Amino acid sequence: MSTDLDARVRDLLDRYDGPDACAAELLCDAHPADAVAFTIVEPDLSAGDLTYGELRERSSRFAAALAGLGVGPGDRVATLMAKSADLVVALLGIWRRGAVHVPLFTAFAPPAIEFRLAASNTKVVVADADQAPKLLACEGFPSGDPATPRGRTGADAEPRLAPRDSSGSADGPTSPPITIVAGDALPGTVSFHDLLDTHRADDPRAVPVAVGGDGLLVQLFTSGTTGTPKGVPIPVRALASFHAYQEFALDVRGDDVYWNAADPGWAYGLYYAILAPLATGVRSLLLHAGFSAPLTWEVLRRFGVTNFAAAPTVYRALRADGQVPDGVALRRASSAGEPLTPEVVAWSRDALGVAVRDHYGQTEHGMVICHAWHPDLDADAPAGSMGRQLPGWACAVLAEDSDTEAAPGEVGRVAIDTDHSPLLWFLGYLDDPERTSARFTADGRWYLTGDVGARDADGFFRFSARDDDVIIMAGYRIGPFEVESVLVMHAQVAEAAVVGMPDDLRGEVLEAFVVPREGVDGDDELVAELQQLVKDEFAAHAYPRRVHFVASLPKTPSGKVQRFLLRGKETR
Ligand code: ATP
Ligand code: MG
Repeated sequence: MSTDLDARVRDLLDRYDGPDACAAELLCDAHPADAVAFTIVEPDLSAGDLTYGELRERSSRFAAALAGLGVGPGDRVATLMAKSADLVVALLGIWRRGAVHVPLFTAFAPPAIEFRLAASNTKVVVADADQAPKLLACEGFPSGDPATPRGRTGADAEPRLAPRDSSGSADGPTSPPITIVAGDALPGTVSFHDLLDTHRADDPRAVPVAVGGDGLLVQLFTSGTTGTPKGVPIPVRALASFHAYQEFALDVRGDDVYWNAADPGWAYGLYYAILAPLATGVRSLLLHAGFSAPLTWEVLRRFGVTNFAAAPTVYRALRADGQVPDGVALRRASSAGEPLTPEVVAWSRDALGVAVRDHYGQTEHGMVICHAWHPDLDADAPAGSMGRQLPGWACAVLAEDSDTEAAPGEVGRVAIDTDHSPLLWFLGYLDDPERTSARFTADGRWYLTGDVGARDADGFFRFSARDDDVIIMAGYRIGPFEVESVLVMHAQVAEAAVVGMPDDLRGEVLEAFVVPREGVDGDDELVAELQQLVKDEFAAHAYPRRVHFVASLPKTPSGKVQRFLLRGKETR
């Protein structure tokens, strides 16, 4: 690693770590008041700029309002909100108060919301008006009981949190979270906009609280791809690594139009569509709408996006949508969150004029291994590689059967060296010491990502599979991803997932779940073609013994295939 970048890592740690680190100052007040933080794009493509000055004013009012509701430093405040100016104001208000943000994805159904609210002991929830009914359907919520009249806001009229016991924990299940609604308030809820109108930015309770680098900023949950989502508490100093990623891997520059299209209900969107832009102070776009390929093209074109980041499925959908509109001119493109399939890279190189680069990370760390765009890190990566460890991180592949590093090219467990990764911030899972300790080698030196891959002699990592998804057939280890990449090359296949099924003779055999393209009937002929394709393009032994045609694959709300649910399927 170049010493300049090492020095930059140290600078960033100085900025975001230490007892005085204050999130609201770092993410808002430190930037010039007239600088634009976000350009918020509406579904009709009208747009408005949100400056740091406006954010400071409005989030101060909200921090004062939260204080009035009894929220103090360390209290959990959730948001169930779309990507909007209100969301950014709410977040900065929460952090100004020294409180901890709990993101809730807007596509969640009540059980997923209840799980996260209970696990995080949330005190207050801020919801968009169209989300509020879902919230009120959750257990323990007022369910329309007009205990708090509509739009009630004066300081005396505000509901307050029940007093805390000496341990600082909540009073118990009898005090459901207070609900704040952005838009028309419902009975039993408080209006977000009225709270802003009735509080002052110079209220002494709006003075930003410094919780320090170890203090908590966010209580997030993993995607739940391999089982129940795990709670990941995120300290303020994690901002150093988010900032570093935006500089080192994305190479976002002052004159870029940067857009990370991911949803902030998840790590990729929260870290790199909200936190990293606020940390660096570089303007970025927020689209106040869900995903559609035509709208994405239109935003890329109209707003002159130069630096685009999105999950691989977004690129796949753009590719399926057809021609790239004139005027789309990307300088940088990247993806993360799941394997980047080769057909996307090939398409983007031709169609977009820039090959999408693969970045790898986890909720627990943010990005750690990237095919980086920064000129000092740029290198010709071998096809299919995710890139190299970023400055500030030391990653390795450990042998399967011992906690020593595997030889170059050998497949093993992708791990992070906790002794040599100054940007590491993971504190362990919320209330789950067992799952936490399973993440580390016995001596505590290595964090085990739960992913399997290989590193070549030049330091490039190649993703193979998640630990749980590796198929061991007659002694061969096969990652489903390589087989899936071949299956989706077939013109009649939209999506595919491959899992290992128990087999008396071989231990496990491969079975494929294939979603055919629209209008295609999965028949024996297609099965034979797919089996042959895998033999020709990947390996003769790794063809799927059975192919099941299905209408869709089980996925997390963020779109990741849950192979463990397919493995549980009775197929014979
Ligand atoms: P859970 O931990 O709850 O099962 P999850 O691991 O999917 O869910 P995230 O933290 O959102 O939760 O995702 C991180 C995982 O996503 C990584 O461990 C890896 O398996 C996968 N991943 C992320 N980026 C890439 C990438 N570029 N290529 C391949 N896989 C990736
Ligand atoms: Mg995980």
